[in-house]
Amino acid sequence: MKRRRCDIFIWALQDHSVISQKAPSTWHRVLGTWYLSLEQYLFLFIMFSSLAMIKPTVLILLVGLLASSCGQKDQGPKTMDDIAEDYVKLVLKIGQYDSDFVDAYYGPQEWKPEGSPEGGILVDTFVERTKSLAEALTDIDLSQLTSMEKRRHHMLSKQLISVETKVRMMGGESFEFDEEARLLYDAEPPTYDAPYFDNLLADLENEIPGIGSLQARYRDFEQQFVIPVDKLDTVFQTAIDEARRKTLEHMDLPAEETFQIEYVTGKSWSGYNYYKGNSFSLIQINTDLPIYIDRAIDLACHEGYPGHHVFNALLEKQLVNEKGWREYSVYPLFSPQSLIAEGSANYGIDVAFPGDQRWQYERDVLYPLAGIDPSLAEKYYRVQELRAKLDYAGNEAARGYLNGTLSAEDAAQWLEKYLLYAPERAQQRVRFFDQYRSYVINYNLGKDLVADYVERQGGTVDNPETRWEVFEGLLSAPYTASDLK
Ligand SMILES: [Zn+2]
Repeated sequence: MKRRRCDIFIWALQDHSVISQKAPSTWHRVLGTWYLSLEQYLFLFIMFSSLAMIKPTVLILLVGLLASSCGQKDQGPKTMDDIAEDYVKLVLKIGQYDSDFVDAYYGPQEWKPEGSPEGGILVDTFVERTKSLAEALTDIDLSQLTSMEKRRHHMLSKQLISVETKVRMMGGESFEFDEEARLLYDAEPPTYDAPYFDNLLADLENEIPGIGSLQARYRDFEQQFVIPVDKLDTVFQTAIDEARRKTLEHMDLPAEETFQIEYVTGKSWSGYNYYKGNSFSLIQINTDLPIYIDRAIDLACHEGYPGHHVFNALLEKQLVNEKGWREYSVYPLFSPQSLIAEGSANYGIDVAFPGDQRWQYERDVLYPLAGIDPSLAEKYYRVQELRAKLDYAGNEAARGYLNGTLSAEDAAQWLEKYLLYAPERAQQRVRFFDQYRSYVINYNLGKDLVADYVERQGGTVDNPETRWEVFEGLLSAPYTASDLK
């Protein structure tokens, strides 16, 4: 706002005839909204009265002087756009100290700091800057905002809490798991004890009968569903094409939207979406461990359609390009935006393939492509549904490990027991805990919060049109976990 007021005035100085014709309204605006000292009014008077006689070089000098003086004197409150710009620059600056901190940025290149910083992170400076932006937000008059702008305001205040928390963590401070999840993701992860998961395991016992431990039997069973490496790309491309086709039937995405798939190794995750802006995503699939047939639809929807790729493309289109809300051009990973991102990406699987549609499509199209016996599809799906109920066991392993009550080995064993992970997968997951910590809650708690929200508004499995509609609304506006309750 400060800059715009000065720009208007400079424009007026450059065109004296316009200012003469519009003097009353322009002057009213100047006097009503600027905070000028007596000297400045005198200065204005002398300048305008002698404008016709002044040489161009002197005029430029006067304009410069005035521009700098109005910059000093205008102490008006920051607008949301001012705060958003400062926030983006701050997030980018902090991102210089941790390569995971900024997940995506596609705003102006000149906002990105150059080079790499010397020394450790300046915790106090960054915390101070975050607090002053949060304070500036509290100065905004909410009664003047539309409901969407209020959402924007609320979301930005939550994002700032997460940025401050992460900076403090980068400086060595540590929080208990639940406190970290609350500060970073605006969420309250539920707690379950071992007997809760033991009961769920009992249901699986009936599905996979036989001798030996359930874990060993499950690992034998799942061997039948591994996608052969040479068929991986065909299966993924087919799954993602179908997920995209279904999404485009219901959503209006930018015409230029597109993606690229890469196969990588040596990561703690199984898939990742790197959003690059202009509706383009780089989707990476980690091939360190065997990939099972259900992961094709999972990853196609989660990383692509209607998951991360679509979410980012809609935020870019609706919020950054159409509304000019620059804060959405940067995505700090350890923030409330991630709960909505991961939750919607997981729920997006059910949106695109509701009810029996998923396993039937897998059976008819993907199983034959992968060379897997299609007659096993329904059974595998039933087992996976029961296994998915155990998912919160992963949060318990992370909570225990990060709070120091479980060693890395104990956490891996817990994952082997309750999530039926093979030992290598359990170790990979513990490495994920090391790297991303309480981020794990975003997948399952995020999905449950998104599902409840969409279904409460009529987006149930037998109302697919409403489900798509509510889901798209959620992806196109600022939401944080506490907004979904
Ligand atoms: Zn994800």
